[in-house]
Amino acid sequence: MTSLGYDNDQRQDSGGDARSAELADRLGLVRRRIEAAVHAAGRTDPPKLIVVTKFHPAADVRRLVALGVTDVGENRDQEAASKSVELADVDVRWHFIGQLQSNKAKSVVKYAHSVQSIDRPQVVDALVKAIAREKGATGRSDLDCFIQVSLDDDAGAHRGGADPSDVEVLAEKIESADGLRLSGLMAVAPLGADPNAAFEKLAGISEALRAVHPAATGISAGMSQDLEAAVTFGATHLRIGSDILGSRPAVG
Ligand SMILES: *Cc1c(COP(=O)(O)O)cnc(C)c1O
Repeated sequence: MTSLGYDNDQRQDSGGDARSAELADRLGLVRRRIEAAVHAAGRTDPPKLIVVTKFHPAADVRRLVALGVTDVGENRDQEAASKSVELADVDVRWHFIGQLQSNKAKSVVKYAHSVQSIDRPQVVDALVKAIAREKGATGRSDLDCFIQVSLDDDAGAHRGGADPSDVEVLAEKIESADGLRLSGLMAVAPLGADPNAAFEKLAGISEALRAVHPAATGISAGMSQDLEAAVTFGATHLRIGSDILGSRPAVG
């Protein structure tokens, strides 16, 4: 299911119609997988699909929105900022899911509906300042904040995120900040490990968080390879890239 081997170069042909058809097919397959997983888990609350469009052109975001996609994810500020400017006329929510440098906070709050990769207090401080300025200038709404938690055994060594023992301090800091809304947790399953075990662990961390912060119900988990496991363990947001867009082009 992961690598159907579509050729990304074909998308420039025929004014984008072939690419739209390809995206429609792949999006349909992913939506059916999500439905099947939701059904198998006996859930009545389907997770929100965030289509991860990193390395793919703004034109693909436009095509996806035409196919009913409402939320997209990006992991580099420069790329996301320029796409969001190019697509200012398109009604879509942008989610920032990549490692965030504090000096990019000012830029990210211009387009991001959520930042899902908050992993240290310095990033919260930077976002607080940036959102205050942006709200003053444009009246934008509060920023949805997800704490990225590491599910690796040696915290943060592989795929980023705060150690689970640091989640509560970060949660407190976000909840007490003006302009930030504590949405919940985000995580990436460790490479080479059983995603079921990883997402079960994440569900436990989320339960502990919700005991103190009942509104922080978000669990952003699940990528192309492991969305079924994420749905099983209560993901509220899925971040799917390559199974919808195809393999990422070498040049962004
Ligand atoms: C790229 C990325 C995804 C999407 O991964 P795919 O395997 O392409 O579905 C999800 N989450 C994060 C944090 C990412 O960087």
